[in-house]
Amino acid sequence: MNPMPELPEVETVRRGLSVLLQDQPVIAGFEFRRKDLRDPIPIKKIRRLEGQAIRSVLRRSKYLLFETDEGALLSHLGMTGSWRAAVPGDERGHDHFVMKFTNGLSLVYRDPRRFGILDFVERPYDKHARLRNLGPEPLEEGFHADLLWELSRSRTVPVKNFLMNAATVVGVGNIYASEALFRAGVRPQRRAHRLTRPEVERLVQTIREVLLESIRAGGSSISDYVQASGEEGLFQANFRVYDRAGEPCVVCGQQVRRLMQAGRSSYYCPKCQR
Ligand SMILES: [Zn+2]
Repeated sequence: MNPMPELPEVETVRRGLSVLLQDQPVIAGFEFRRKDLRDPIPIKKIRRLEGQAIRSVLRRSKYLLFETDEGALLSHLGMTGSWRAAVPGDERGHDHFVMKFTNGLSLVYRDPRRFGILDFVERPYDKHARLRNLGPEPLEEGFHADLLWELSRSRTVPVKNFLMNAATVVGVGNIYASEALFRAGVRPQRRAHRLTRPEVERLVQTIREVLLESIRAGGSSISDYVQASGEEGLFQANFRVYDRAGEPCVVCGQQVRRLMQAGRSSYYCPKCQR
């Protein structure tokens, strides 16, 4: 199964959309070709945004927020969601939603598997049901070793599950958890409360590292996800351990192992990770 877009892919999409919307165009109207994706689409509420200018495109965890003075359109890409600027004649199957602007720009949301979300969010955004229980952003100052240390002391779950829990930190999905644990020298099955202080400090560092490298590479894009610009990301060329079961470790040459944790594949080097 293809992995879903993770934080770097969503951040890459956000940056692409920000460029398309940098002149703060006014929403002329919406075209709803379905009433639901993963959840019902609150069509009436979203229509409240008609006539509003897009002030900015924000990202919280893996949610995109098209921000106006009246609230925001929330978009989650699910597994196969993508945004693109419509080009005349470029109609594709699974184009479910269109946002049209008075300057002639149209943004099309396409999602073959329909696990995505479209919603309306009022300020303050962090009171909304989808956003209120989210932990800190991994690339912001609120995520640091003291916090991860405190949180981990009472948690007996495997460290990989601990890191992938949005209450710990948002946006660390399967690929990035495996990669960050490899770089920090920590086995994914270690219990969170058994981490040492230096390991916690290394994990904060390596989580930031792998996410930033991926954003710089334009997201991993292994699924049929496409960036807002229509180009594919390149981070998958930088995987050191993810999806490399049976291949030699890039550091020591030992065979990379795979195990299942909470229904997801984990990859680790039995020599480099303890
Ligand atoms: Zn190794």
